[in-house]
Amino acid sequence: MLAQEIIARKRDGLALSGEEIAHFISGLTRGQVTDAQAAAFAMAVYFNDMTTPERVALTLAMRDSGRVLDWSGLNGPVIDKHSTGGVGDNVSLMLAPILAACGAYVPMISGRGLGHTGGTLDKFDAIPGYNTNPDITTFRRVVEAVGCAIIGQTDDLAPADRRLYSIRDVTATVESIALITASILSKKLAAGLDALILDVKSGSGAFMATPEDAHALAGSLVSVANGAGLATGALLTDMNEPLASAAGNGLEVNNAIAFLTGAHRDPRLEEVTLALCARALVLGGLAQGYDEGLALARRALDSGRAAERFFAMVHALGGPANLEKDHRAIAPSSPRSAPIRAPITGYVRAIDTLAIGMAVVVLGGGRRTPSDTIDYGVGFDRLAGIGQKLEAGEPLAMIHARDEASAEEAERRILAAYEIGETPPPAAPAVLSYMPPREAE
Ligand code: URA
Repeated sequence: MLAQEIIARKRDGLALSGEEIAHFISGLTRGQVTDAQAAAFAMAVYFNDMTTPERVALTLAMRDSGRVLDWSGLNGPVIDKHSTGGVGDNVSLMLAPILAACGAYVPMISGRGLGHTGGTLDKFDAIPGYNTNPDITTFRRVVEAVGCAIIGQTDDLAPADRRLYSIRDVTATVESIALITASILSKKLAAGLDALILDVKSGSGAFMATPEDAHALAGSLVSVANGAGLATGALLTDMNEPLASAAGNGLEVNNAIAFLTGAHRDPRLEEVTLALCARALVLGGLAQGYDEGLALARRALDSGRAAERFFAMVHALGGPANLEKDHRAIAPSSPRSAPIRAPITGYVRAIDTLAIGMAVVVLGGGRRTPSDTIDYGVGFDRLAGIGQKLEAGEPLAMIHARDEASAEEAERRILAAYEIGETPPPAAPAVLSYMPPREAE
């Protein structure tokens, strides 16, 4: 079987067999398929798509291109979450310790942010000393002892995805739902999970702008994950405003610690975090139904047990022992903090969430290209949410900047991103719907 024969079949709109897909991905992993062939394959999939069985075969072949973690011997289910990304989305920082406090094990392998969306790994890099790239023995030890560990991609998990993704990135083929599905799920399957909850977002700050596109992506992810043997459901959530009232790495860590300790909880963030935890607990067999899952998650949070797991994880991975008492002094700060004031009196009617994310990038808190370095102290907090009433001159956010020029540019962007009007907008829930496990679209 030649790579060009497999590409030709996909180019001609035929469905590939599992064997053909496995052969192509094996060649890709071993360097026998060239970049040109991988790009042609990706473009053929982009135009002619893949059936669900083809997507399952591609996902499994990419999972098997590297190491698959084995967690046998643990006395609880191994669960993880994947979010399609957004602004002020620090859910993982709370979800992992909440699930751990409920008896699950959460080996979370996260990514860095690019463009307007933040990355979980960048938030942990904001914590001095925290090692986001431990060796696999340390990762396993922390998961076993604490119940959760959040780290970065390792080179040996799904290496075929790394190669194919870098080629898709420069050949305009990222936006294929079949390829996105295999890319996301191959890494999750390689992490050796028993259950996976997905947070698929739509709205002005989401990867998928419309609920219809988000539904199509969720349908593919849920069908393929379950087809590959992983119990998976998807929560469809709203990203028409930042989820937390903070955006920027260190500021989102502070927001997460305030959430865990009960000092401050943003209501929409709480709604999404607890709903994801409840669904994950059901998928992992730790709760019989949604209401029981919700009660377990809420108890883990309100009792302080989730906060204890978070601080234990941070310390076990090299972070400070005193983060709980002194987190505002430890998380990196920026020299220039000032309010951004509402230009008129009225209600926040809409927020261009992508523009908020890009304002964080302007401050130096995000990346324009993968090699950019990040300033962990900059960003926004106390961001006003949709529906909030503001008087003219009242702060609609606090800006934290490194210098005057970036502060002025970011402030201009924030003011342009907020639509303030005379009447309140209709209330919109943060959780839109739940897609339970299913195998066929
Ligand atoms: N995230 C991934 O890991 N892969 C994609 O293709 C898109 C988003």
